[in-house]
Amino acid sequence: MPVTQQRLPSWVVNRTGRLGNAEPVIRRLRKGRLVTVCEEARCPNIGECFDRGTATFMLLGDTCTRRCAFCSVTTGRPRPVDPLEPARVAETAAQMGLRYVVVTTVARDDLADEGAGQFVRTIAALRKRLPGVEVEVLTGDFNGREELLGRVIAARPDVFGHNLETVRRVTPQIRGRATYDRSLEVLRVAGRLVREQGFGLVKSGVMVGLGETREELSETMKDIRSTGCSIITVGQYLRPTRAHHAVARYVEPHEFEEIAAQARAIGFAEVASGALVRSSYRADKVFATVRGSAP
Ligand code: SF4
Repeated sequence: MPVTQQRLPSWVVNRTGRLGNAEPVIRRLRKGRLVTVCEEARCPNIGECFDRGTATFMLLGDTCTRRCAFCSVTTGRPRPVDPLEPARVAETAAQMGLRYVVVTTVARDDLADEGAGQFVRTIAALRKRLPGVEVEVLTGDFNGREELLGRVIAARPDVFGHNLETVRRVTPQIRGRATYDRSLEVLRVAGRLVREQGFGLVKSGVMVGLGETREELSETMKDIRSTGCSIITVGQYLRPTRAHHAVARYVEPHEFEEIAAQARAIGFAEVASGALVRSSYRADKVFATVRGSAP
């Protein structure tokens, strides 16, 4: 029987930071008219991350063209592309004093380039405004279009991320339009492209507690590693609202440690595994750990 959010175990509640130091971050985000996945996805780490002065920017507005059963981002008809958004991201990142910037987006199946151009422009704006900045992008699947992936990777993000989200069997239940195999292909193509240009790392993430078995999770981690992806994050799925997919179970802390050990044995250069881990959680530290040691 699915568990309810009324009975959240202590280890899935982030008590670090209570928005005490987050005011300046919120002010700058509002001033820059920027959207964050932290707020839109109701991330449990928002107090900690904003307190640390970090946030993950979400490009192309707050409205997504897809509807996934795990995600609280609004679905609908998005607004037109804002050509000034990349410069505002760069300026806000500079004002926040960020040296490592994580940028993601809503799915934009309505755009001819599916939002790839906005990633490219944002990476360029960040590099111009913040020389030496490290940039991590977390993209959708671009419907598997290699030319769009190629454009983003040619902009040379330090980390290219695309999340598989869950195991093969559960994917149709929780991902709106994306498929397991297409996401693997995105990772495979990304891996090839970063190897060819000799720059960048590929990262992926999965949620647990969605009804998957440990064997299925193990298969998925092997599938991800087989694409050349070198960084993996594993975190507990939390139901954003009662309208979303139910939590099947809360994975215990010792299991996250076992999963991390297994991922390392499979060959990942770096693993972040824990109930509160999200793909952008302490992403700067994950990258700092893996830099120079990725296979
Ligand atoms: S973990 Fe990522 S999405 Fe969540 S608050 Fe931190 S930066 Fe934002």
